[in-house]
Amino acid sequence: MNKRFGDNTVLDGLNFEVGKGERVTLIGPSGSGKTTILRLVMTLEHLTGGFIYLDGEPLTHEMRGGRRVERKKKDVARMTTKIGMVFQQFNLFPNMTVLENLTEAPINVLGRPKAEAQERARELLDHVGLGDKVDAHPTRLSGGQQQRVAIARALAMDPEVLLLDEVTSALDPELVGEVLNVLRDVAETTDITMLIVTHEMQFAQEVSHRVLMFDQGRIIEDKPPAEMFSNPENERTQEFLQAIL
Ligand code: ATP
Repeated sequence: MNKRFGDNTVLDGLNFEVGKGERVTLIGPSGSGKTTILRLVMTLEHLTGGFIYLDGEPLTHEMRGGRRVERKKKDVARMTTKIGMVFQQFNLFPNMTVLENLTEAPINVLGRPKAEAQERARELLDHVGLGDKVDAHPTRLSGGQQQRVAIARALAMDPEVLLLDEVTSALDPELVGEVLNVLRDVAETTDITMLIVTHEMQFAQEVSHRVLMFDQGRIIEDKPPAEMFSNPENERTQEFLQAIL
């Protein structure tokens, strides 16, 4: 895949595959393109070249009549319901209650009956330790609580793929643990495919099957976390890990 912002080529011929149920962490210096990859998969950015496939089906662009063309909006929309994303800044709907945040898309996008969507939302909120906050507004919650709501909201869509973009970076240090615990639990108890951008290397080591090291929009090292962190081969990886660990 390729991604340019104006004259700035961020990803050039990037090619990688993630298996079903696999959890992959993307690491690398600021500006190396990690967030852009997640945003492309979520279709929040426009792919300027190449393709992204989900279950073998092209996501936003396909070859037709020998040409690369955009897929129809409704096909893209159908595909993106399988993908959930959690952002650094939570991005909850501030004018809705916690429960409404979780039921909005299941009702309006998936067409689930309201009672069913609410029951599932309550279950998920219990699961992330916020069963008593269903009627609260997000602004009344701590950052850690808001991020747990955001995770529950993504899970309410029963995604096949979950994208986590530096989900603890905006939190006060004492709130990081509660969010990572929820994510550890998601990793242990579901087979959701996960693409994770994080600076929490301990967490990455615990939950990922693979770590990809990015530099200037290219993957320069790709290996299981234990090996990546204990025995990085590439000099750039060694420098990067030394600086952050
Ligand atoms: P960080 O760890 O700082 O979030 P990153 O590896 O996630 O870095 P990206 O945020 O993907 O990197 O950014 C990659 C490059 O794309 C950078 O050069 C950035 O300036 C550029 N970029 C990202 N989003 C945009 C945008 N909306 N418009 C223009 N340039 C952008």
